[in-house]
Amino acid sequence: MTAPSTPHIIYLDNNATTACAPEVIAEMMPYFAEHYGNASSVHLAGRKAFRAVEEARERVASLLAVRPHELFFNSGATEGNNWIFQAFAESAPVERKRIVVSSIEHKSVLEPALRLRTMGFDVHLLPVTTDGVVDLKRAGEIITSETLLVSVQFANNETGVIQPIAELTALTHRAGAFFHCDAVQGLGKEKLDLSELPVDSAVFSAHKVHGPKGVGALFIRGGAKNWRHALPLTGGGQERSIRPGTLNVPGIVGFGMAAKLLYNNVDKNILLMQSLREYMEKELLINIKNIVIHGKNSKRISNTSYILIKNINSDLLISNLSLYCLSLGSACNNNSISGSYVLKNMNINDNLNIDSIRISISRYNTKYEIDQFLKSIYESIDKIKSINEVL
Ligand code: PMP
Repeated sequence: MTAPSTPHIIYLDNNATTACAPEVIAEMMPYFAEHYGNASSVHLAGRKAFRAVEEARERVASLLAVRPHELFFNSGATEGNNWIFQAFAESAPVERKRIVVSSIEHKSVLEPALRLRTMGFDVHLLPVTTDGVVDLKRAGEIITSETLLVSVQFANNETGVIQPIAELTALTHRAGAFFHCDAVQGLGKEKLDLSELPVDSAVFSAHKVHGPKGVGALFIRGGAKNWRHALPLTGGGQERSIRPGTLNVPGIVGFGMAAKLLYNNVDKNILLMQSLREYMEKELLINIKNIVIHGKNSKRISNTSYILIKNINSDLLISNLSLYCLSLGSACNNNSISGSYVLKNMNINDNLNIDSIRISISRYNTKYEIDQFLKSIYESIDKIKSINEVL
């Protein structure tokens, strides 16, 4: 597999976004230039685009172990998550007004959920342990027969901690409610087989798996004919009316190719990322005093490491590591002033919480890059410490 070329930087922020695979770019190009037909048109150009979309749907469906008609292409996970909450808000029966989400969801779940409070819904945030896992005992108490919808992420975007989705789905179904999963951070980084994981719906995003930005998929078990709730978007019949609007054919084709690349190599990629992450964490723990790795005691996706180095200012550290693309928690919440709400909700001490750095690896990273990073982080810490001593 050809690696993308990114001179002058070492990219370690793959939970924020990933490099588009060269094979993905090559697959997309003809759909900008020659095959630009509208996938809904009945002429030759339209049918060519339509067939490309359906091939991409099959590729993504194979990767997820679902049926192609259960997938609906959209602009990404933010749209998919909003769509689910809006659909339930518009069709809730009076006896089910409880919505349950974890307190560490991505903002694209938390905000649409919390907005439903203003519409009279009883929105509960599930607490998590200090290891970053949803508290199943509390979940059992909160998910009751008044519950309409439960939404919990597959893995957290900051810590990489994997959530007990099978158990939460069972609790939800026992209460007669619907289970939605934001599975964005799980795809390609952990075994994710929807034929074994009985969620009712899930969202995915192409740009997290070396596909293009602005395209994703909503999975609905059973497909459109099984959808009993409102349709929040109107104005076209595309994607069986689940997601009306002209299809982003090049983006969908790119997503399909990204899925095909993953399908052929997913276990190998996971092992590669995991071995780099384990090597890096082992070295960091040996060489840096006062380092904490958030969620280390929990099952995590293969590529993520979220570290805190006590008494070292992370802004300063990151600015010393300018060759490296790293993140202070989530790319969507990059303000170190208020700290990470994920760590706050894990009850990690506020003072510690401000100084955490996320390193997220991809299949394109190498041991050489990790060694370079380790060397640079040790040098930067020494430099910061010597300045602190002078002050
Ligand atoms: N959920 C999670 C867990 C994410 O990490 C992200 C991306 N930061 C999203 C949702 C939003 O995805 P998209 O960029 O496709 O809207």
